[in-house]
Amino acid sequence: MIRNTGLYHAQIVPKFAQYGVELLSATENNDMNNPYGRYIRNNQINNAELESELTSIRTIENLKEKARQGYFPGSRAPVGYIRDKIDGKKVIVPDKQKAPYIKDVFNLYTRGGYSYKEIADKLAKRGFTHNNKPCNKKLIENILTVYDCFYNGQFMFKGVKYEGKHEAILTKEEYANFKCVRNQKYAPKSFIYRGLIQCALTGKYLIGEEHTGANNSGIYQYYRCHHCSMKKDCKKIIKSSVIDKLIIDTINTLTITKEEILAFKDDLKNIMYTNQNMNEERLNLILPQIKKLENRMLALYDDKIDSLITEEFYKQKRDLWQNQLDEYQLEINALKNAQKEIFKRIENALELCEDLSGVYLHHTDEEKHILIKLLCSNFSYDGSKLVITIKEPFKALIKFVIFKNGAGGGIRTHAYRNHNPRS
Ligand SMILES: [Zn+2]
Repeated sequence: MIRNTGLYHAQIVPKFAQYGVELLSATENNDMNNPYGRYIRNNQINNAELESELTSIRTIENLKEKARQGYFPGSRAPVGYIRDKIDGKKVIVPDKQKAPYIKDVFNLYTRGGYSYKEIADKLAKRGFTHNNKPCNKKLIENILTVYDCFYNGQFMFKGVKYEGKHEAILTKEEYANFKCVRNQKYAPKSFIYRGLIQCALTGKYLIGEEHTGANNSGIYQYYRCHHCSMKKDCKKIIKSSVIDKLIIDTINTLTITKEEILAFKDDLKNIMYTNQNMNEERLNLILPQIKKLENRMLALYDDKIDSLITEEFYKQKRDLWQNQLDEYQLEINALKNAQKEIFKRIENALELCEDLSGVYLHHTDEEKHILIKLLCSNFSYDGSKLVITIKEPFKALIKFVIFKNGAGGGIRTHAYRNHNPRS
């Protein structure tokens, strides 16, 4: 029996016509030469399609039910576990030989400083194999990013996390530490010069990068043109702190009068307005998430009323989702207040001391970004010079600031060129 109407009409019927073939069923009586026979045929296919879809929905529902009861519905246990039978029941238990390696993978990652490849090489040397092959980078990546919660006694199924009945390989503490390190690693990086520095050749924006300094001295931010070919000068990397220094020097050359401060504030208001729109975009992302969580909690409550889930499971999920809701609420409050606060702080700083470089040094990345956007048009970088163009109303004060990158011995020098010197 054909179970797909689309396929039947799109591919099979034209082929029959092409070869002058008639479809006859040995078990089903239908004559394709009259409308009634074709009608019956179509209905049979429709019914078969519906049945096949219902079966797959039922299968998924069955698997979800299995997951809710804490049994991993996947066909294969993740590396570090094996399938076993206890009292005739299929269960997943830690693989005694491999579990210690899994612990090592997480502990090395949490300790920091190792890439997936380095962890793989280290553990391959210690004898960690999978499918009779030494462990490799891909396996380590899967352990740390795909199966990770499994080793904490949980598992993911169809995008939902379930509490498993299987034994955790990691302690709660080990897993919490791992999550903490991983979240930091994947937290959106704040590159304050993102979208500000343009390649002098193409006008495209330089991309922020982070690199570890020599002897693990810390993580440093750089910018580099990713658009031009390797030979171009603009491929030369520029360190974030060098740009900081240039901006502070630039700011220090500016003297601001009362009128200029007023104009500055007007400009600031415009930028705040733009940022407000960005915050609204974020709010538009969060609000549907909240609605989704609330609906989930209602459905969970229904399941509890209908005794589909245990009291314990209900409480666990409810607390988890309530926490997420609370976090969203905090973020919403922060978004609503952030703009006002930054504006006030910059305003205060302006009025108090008219000391822009002080404002720049002592404020957060976000505030710095706002200040730069306020003061400067985009920067242009050609591999040796970073040119900052000052915006109105500051243009009258200084037109160009030119910075020379790459002086010998690691000492950076800078020079200004004032195209529009004031009397
Ligand atoms: Zn370039």
